[in-house]
Amino acid sequence: MSDATIPTEESAGTEPTESEPTAAQPGAAESGTPRMAPADEAARTAPADEPARTVLADEAAGLDAADPLRAKRDAFTLDDTIYLDGNSLGALPRAVPPRLADVVAREWGELRIRSWDESGWWTAPERIGDRVGRLIGAGSGQVVVGDSTSVNVFKAVVAAVRIAQERGAHRDQILVDEATFPTDGYIAESAARMTGCTVRPVAAGDVPTAVGARTAVALVNHVDYRTGRLHDLPGTTAAVHAAGALVVWDLCHSAGALPVGLDAHGVDLAVGCTYKYLNGGPGAPAYLYVAQAHQPRFDSPLPGWNSHADPFGMASAYTPADGAVRGRVGTPDILSMLALEAALEVWDDVTIEDVRAKSLALTDFFLRCVETYVPAGRVRSITPAAPAERGSQVALRCAEAGEAGEVMAELVRRGVVGDFRRPDVLRFGFTPLYTGFAEVERAARVLADVLKEG
Ligand SMILES: *Cc1c(COP(=O)(O)O)cnc(C)c1O
Repeated sequence: MSDATIPTEESAGTEPTESEPTAAQPGAAESGTPRMAPADEAARTAPADEPARTVLADEAAGLDAADPLRAKRDAFTLDDTIYLDGNSLGALPRAVPPRLADVVAREWGELRIRSWDESGWWTAPERIGDRVGRLIGAGSGQVVVGDSTSVNVFKAVVAAVRIAQERGAHRDQILVDEATFPTDGYIAESAARMTGCTVRPVAAGDVPTAVGARTAVALVNHVDYRTGRLHDLPGTTAAVHAAGALVVWDLCHSAGALPVGLDAHGVDLAVGCTYKYLNGGPGAPAYLYVAQAHQPRFDSPLPGWNSHADPFGMASAYTPADGAVRGRVGTPDILSMLALEAALEVWDDVTIEDVRAKSLALTDFFLRCVETYVPAGRVRSITPAAPAERGSQVALRCAEAGEAGEVMAELVRRGVVGDFRRPDVLRFGFTPLYTGFAEVERAARVLADVLKEG
C-alpha cells in the first residue's frame, strides 16, 4: 500500500505541533532549513527565466552523463511520468513479473505442496531477510522478513521492554519519537499498556538527553517521513545504551536510500518496510532485525508456530527457535515475499554508498532548481539543508493556506508525481536507482509553472 492512502498519516498532518517542524526540532529553522532565496523580479517572467533554465538543464545533462547508476533505470518499468513518490511506493522492477508468473504457474500450479521444501518457500523469510540485511548493514541470521511494519514494531517494542525489564523492573517508560509516523505511536501505546509502561513522546533529537534510568526502550524513526530529516542513529544508539536502555529504529525511509550500519552501531532492534525504496511492491512484507546478542532473550509477544524450534513436531509446549527465526509468526505470504526477493536483485551490483551519493546530489539539485525557478516566498523547504541531516526526500511547505493539495493534483496531471501531506506539505521522494537529474530539473520547472499560474 502506498502511504499516500493511509488515512492516519494524513490526519497526523493536521496536528498543529507536528505541522510545525520548528516545534518538534528546536533550532532547526535557523541552521537546517533553507529558505528559498528571493528571486530577482526580472527572473519571474518567462523570458528572463530562459538563461537560468538553460544553465540548469545543461548541468542536469552533465550530471546524468556522469551518473554511475544511470543504467539502473532500465531495470524498472517506467514511462515519461516523473515519478517522485518512490518513498511511498517504489516502482516495479522488471525482474518481478516473470518471476511471479513462474512462482504461480510452476511452483504453486505444478509443484504445489512440494514447493515449501523444493522451491525454498519455508526458509524464504530468513533467506530474504539476509538479503535485506546486506542493505542495512546487518550480518546474516539477524533479519527476518514477514508481516507489516506495524506488526514488527509491536514485536520489537514488547520484546525490547521484556529484555530491559530483566535488567531492572523499574524501567517503565517507552520513549517515542514525537513526530513519528503514527502507526508506530499507536502500537507503542498498546505495547506500553501490556507491559506496565507509559509512553513518553520526545523529539527524536532529544532522545539522548531524555533517556534515563526509567527508560526501557526508545522507538525512533531514522528518517522523518514528513520532513525528510535524518536522525543521528550512532549517537542516539550510544546514548540510549549508556542509560542502560534499548533502542528500536524504524528504517522505513532510510533502507535502500542510505547506509544504516545496524551491526556497526550496535543497534538492538530495527524494523522497516520494503515497498518504499526497496521496491518490493504494494503490501510487500516488512522486516525485523534482532541483533545477535539479544536473540537468546528475544521473547516474542507473537510466538506463532513458525518461530518454534521444531514447527512440524506439533508440540503443545512452545520452544522458541534460535536466531532471527524467532521473529516469525505464522505462514509467510509467499507471493509477496517472492516478488520482493526478485525486486531485491537490482541491488546485486550496487553499493549503498553510491546510492547515498546520488541521493544527496539529487536532493541538492532539486533544492537549487526550486530556489531558482519558484517565485520567492511561494514555498519553503522543511527538509534540512545540511546533507548529514537529510534523507532522500524534499518536503516543501506552501505559503498559501490550502493550496498544497491543488498544487500536487495539478503536478500529477502534468506528469510529476509526488505526494501531498496535509495541511500544506508537498513531498518529493528521490530514488537514486531510477531518478535522473534531467527529471529533477523538469519537475522543479513544472512546479514553478504551476505556482506562477495558480
Ligand atoms: C511507511 C511507514 C510505516 C508503514 O507501516 P505498515 O505497517 O507497513 O503500513 C511505518 N512506519 C514508518 C516510519 C513508515 O514510514
